[in-house]
Amino acid sequence: MSKYWSDVVHKLTPYVPGEQPKINNLVKLNTNENPYGPSQKVIEALKLEAAETLRLYPDPNSDALKAAIAKVHHLDSSQVFVGNGSDEVLAHVFQALLKHDLPLLFPDITYSFYPVYCGLYDINYQTIPLAEDFGICVEDYKKPNGGIIFPNPNAPTGMPLPLAKIEWLLQNNTESVVVIDEAYVDFGTESAVTLVNQYPNLLVTHTLSKARSLAGLRVGYALGSFELIEALIRVKDSFNSYPIDRFASAGAVAAMLDADYFDETCAKVVATREALIKDLVSLGFDVLPSGANFIFAKHQTRDGAELSSALREHNIIVRHFKSPSRIAPYLRITIGTDAQSELLLKALRAILS
Ligand SMILES: *Cc1c(COP(=O)(O)O)cnc(C)c1O
Repeated sequence: MSKYWSDVVHKLTPYVPGEQPKINNLVKLNTNENPYGPSQKVIEALKLEAAETLRLYPDPNSDALKAAIAKVHHLDSSQVFVGNGSDEVLAHVFQALLKHDLPLLFPDITYSFYPVYCGLYDINYQTIPLAEDFGICVEDYKKPNGGIIFPNPNAPTGMPLPLAKIEWLLQNNTESVVVIDEAYVDFGTESAVTLVNQYPNLLVTHTLSKARSLAGLRVGYALGSFELIEALIRVKDSFNSYPIDRFASAGAVAAMLDADYFDETCAKVVATREALIKDLVSLGFDVLPSGANFIFAKHQTRDGAELSSALREHNIIVRHFKSPSRIAPYLRITIGTDAQSELLLKALRAILS
């Protein structure tokens, strides 16, 4: 608290990101980073960018990056918006498209950044409870609203929603924007990008932080009709003309265009996930179905907070959310390499015995 602060700052409840500990040899399974490094083509592109040209501003419109993203998704560049991580893209989305008199709707258990943006931009919102089995019931969103947003797969549950459900929602909600945050979609969830040309009120957001293994580079994007993209450009050009620096652009273009490396690493993560789920079930865990690079699991007899701190003693960090109480028994575990799964299982066997 300070007399120098604005009223807005006094009222903020900032987002708390997962810990980035400065300790070596940790098995870090808490922030859904990719266990495999980025494509070698990304590293080469970044090296070329370390040059005299850094004295010049980057392209304010990020045309090269938009063209690469449009190519991958079979869309036009005018349907692409890019930003400094999808968190920045989402922030602009909240301000540009989701702030209306009617409340914005999102699930009660979801990405905890959404209520933070509502606080920052003074957006009226209402949460819709997930079903008993933690699924999203699209029927519950059929009511007057100023917008709808949820991740698919949802976070932190990892549960995927079939594309037909999203299409039903779009058919039944034509008066406001529907945002599908597909941060984890590449690990086995059906993408709504294929519906972008059909529904002018659909906006899909993606990040290069997870499946493209570039959390350190900070690049995310949104796909939608030009009408929606233009709103985002207006906010961006009133905020920061150059959100994508020269390194971010070069690295992100290389990452988008290396389809082979992307397919190979996503498939490895999915295979490790399926094997880990089987092993955790045999240790007495209930694991929610996952279409993401993490799983949400609770032990049948042991407490989530207790297991999380016991794992830390074994130098393994996972994410535990104290609230809401419905998810307190659960651990959110990022999928690492097979070797990291082995270390996790070995520690859990010791803790549970
Ligand atoms: C990780 C994540 C993001 C943000 O990713 P960036 O690193 O900011 O691109 C957005 N939404 C969800 C649900 C996420 O888990």
